[in-house]
Amino acid sequence: MLAPNKLDALIVTSPPNVRYLSGFTGDNGALLLSDGATALFTDPRYEIQAAEETGCKVIVARGPLLERLMTEVRRKHLRRLGFERDRISYREYQSLDECLAPSAGLQPVVGAVEQLRCLKDAGEIELIRRSMQIAVRAFEQAAGRVRAGMTEADLAAELDHRMRTGGAEASSFETIVAAGKRSALPHARPGRAPIREGQLVLIDMGALADGYASDMTRMLYLGEPARKVRQLYAAVLEAQMAAIDAVRPGVPAALVDRVARRTLRGYGFDKLFVHSTGHGVGLEIHEGPRLGRHSQDTLEAGMVVTIEPGVYLEGFGGIRIEDTVVVTSSGAEVLTQLSKELRVL
Ligand code: ZN
Ligand code: ZN
Repeated sequence: MLAPNKLDALIVTSPPNVRYLSGFTGDNGALLLSDGATALFTDPRYEIQAAEETGCKVIVARGPLLERLMTEVRRKHLRRLGFERDRISYREYQSLDECLAPSAGLQPVVGAVEQLRCLKDAGEIELIRRSMQIAVRAFEQAAGRVRAGMTEADLAAELDHRMRTGGAEASSFETIVAAGKRSALPHARPGRAPIREGQLVLIDMGALADGYASDMTRMLYLGEPARKVRQLYAAVLEAQMAAIDAVRPGVPAALVDRVARRTLRGYGFDKLFVHSTGHGVGLEIHEGPRLGRHSQDTLEAGMVVTIEPGVYLEGFGGIRIEDTVVVTSSGAEVLTQLSKELRVL
């Protein structure tokens, strides 16, 4: 990363990037990467943990972290310094700038570590697989207990609890449970209204285990689904499976998005699909590559992405089906080992 950007050093401040490069999982750390040397700066609370987790040289700062880091920069006469433009606060930037030697300069770097993180090694894929298994098990345990009268918030809490007791350290994002008309809000917050007969229930959830996220969406229906629900569901399912079929190395991510949209257009539902088809998953729930209309990314073996087309009808409800999949050398491996049929309760 240093040579192509003509840098003497790169300062990494975002926790997932620090974790990815060093193994350090604490939330106050910064890395100084220079030719052949990487130092992790943290505060005294993390002294023992940092020594256990990372092979980098650990420097414990007694005062502000970035000021201590800049002392090291001056001591080593590092002049061209990259920093993570999209991951740093204005205050942190000021503190780097104030400590800069007159002959040195700061250069914004965008997405360098994120680019590396797009490609997962076998160990990372195993962690995501496990995270997905925890989410799937929690879903199966909780879905069987859904009854009319239960609130969206109750069901979300049940799913979160089961993920935690199943081995997750947290949910990978705020669990979405949206019933009836509210399922037309792609990112609804679980509410206090009871789930009723004759309602669609959208559940979008994922676990965080050993730092790695998973992401899935499934649909329940209480009662006998009307024909319109069945039609919409069948179209989304066909789009989702067609998009997974399109996943393979060398394929533009935008093409996978196009395949999902084209399938929905065949049923006249493409206008109801208001978001992109998917996103990368790893240390963060949303990371590269992007599977959208305007994505410039190309799929490569080792990427882990979601495939999640959906349709949303105001006043009626929404349907989304989402799996987390690994791009393999020949296609896609679906990590979400769970039936995609509409679950009728
Ligand atoms: Zn999701
Ligand atoms: Zn997602």
